[in-house]
Amino acid sequence: MNINTHFRELRNNYFFVDVLNKSHAYARLHPDAKILHLGIGDVTMPLPGASIQAMQKAVDELAHKETFHGYGLEQGSDFLRRAILDNDYAPLGVDLSLDEVFISDGAGSDIGNTSDLFAANNRVAVLDPVYPAYVDTNVMAGREITYMPCQAENGFVPEPPKEHVDILYLCFPNNPTGTTLTRYQLQRFVDYALAHKSIIIYDSAYEIFIEDPDVPHSIYELEGAKEIAIEIRSYSKTAGFTGVRCGYTIVPKETGLQQMWYRRQCTKYNGTSYISQRGAEATYSPEGKAQVMSNIRHYKQTAQLIAVGLRSLGYEVWGGKNAPYIWCRTPHQMDSWSFFDMLLEQCQVVCTPGVGFGELGQGYVRFSAFSDRKDVEEALKRMKTLA
Ligand code: PLP
Repeated sequence: MNINTHFRELRNNYFFVDVLNKSHAYARLHPDAKILHLGIGDVTMPLPGASIQAMQKAVDELAHKETFHGYGLEQGSDFLRRAILDNDYAPLGVDLSLDEVFISDGAGSDIGNTSDLFAANNRVAVLDPVYPAYVDTNVMAGREITYMPCQAENGFVPEPPKEHVDILYLCFPNNPTGTTLTRYQLQRFVDYALAHKSIIIYDSAYEIFIEDPDVPHSIYELEGAKEIAIEIRSYSKTAGFTGVRCGYTIVPKETGLQQMWYRRQCTKYNGTSYISQRGAEATYSPEGKAQVMSNIRHYKQTAQLIAVGLRSLGYEVWGGKNAPYIWCRTPHQMDSWSFFDMLLEQCQVVCTPGVGFGELGQGYVRFSAFSDRKDVEEALKRMKTLA
């Protein structure tokens, strides 16, 4: 047996684990310290009531022979795919068909799974810094990676690559910088992909946070995008489904990949849980929509609190408006981990070191709106004492 040696090229440890290990080690040494967690990417608000009721009803259905559901369609149930088209795309004027919507168990899986569609000799472009899954997926597959720099100098808005690449991974609203692309900026990537016959994997797990009218909610709002884009979305951050698991992937027929993806799913995926899909469907009911937006408003207020608070302490920050993340430059050119350590040791506050998202994240840290508001207030108070 020969193993996939590309795994050796992965960075050793998943850096979120390092963050946890450091905060646990501090807690063991200082059992009385109240550590405030402001870096976490997991949601904190409970599920919308409408989803809970729908999932309870789904469990009851499974309890009786007459209403029991076994295997569902590999591509997801029609009721959820129809709700997605009617609610997420029709209002944007985006016309897709039911068989272009594939329900998943979350964005994370399909970021990795879509890799099956492409040969190993494709050149890939990934943002730097960014959520690590795109890099890791392609390192595992042995593909060459080009980085698209996102820095303060370009407002964390990348340029399409100068050279030819076959696959581009875009993540907007962005994790970790919290920035977005305007219509014009995204159209440039679509035009690049059309000209180069490339494909864009567009991860918009944080779409629900978009509020600026000039920021597109879907890549398919842009001319030509259906020919070159796969869009990945999730109910994780939208509706608190990080533990329930449900998302979806759009593969338009114009990409020439829809049948391949269907074939792949039929072989390797036996469908998303009926219970999760009913829970996701309920987020589109009138009550569900109101409950989802109430949670999002809560996170947005927390994001504002963090951004305004950090600015008032003299930090340079980005994001926090169309995204739940606040990207903060470390003071005195400290590296990300040194600032992380200082914040933990002097303020008992945990953030996420930016360098974990890529080399260009060095010198930044990420704060998250998925934090307790009281903890944010307390953290800002403690941070006043920093030299
Ligand atoms: N994409 C981005 C940009 C994320 O930040 C995350 C999770 O933090 C995911 C995808 C994974 O989401 P899911 O829970 O749907 O797998």
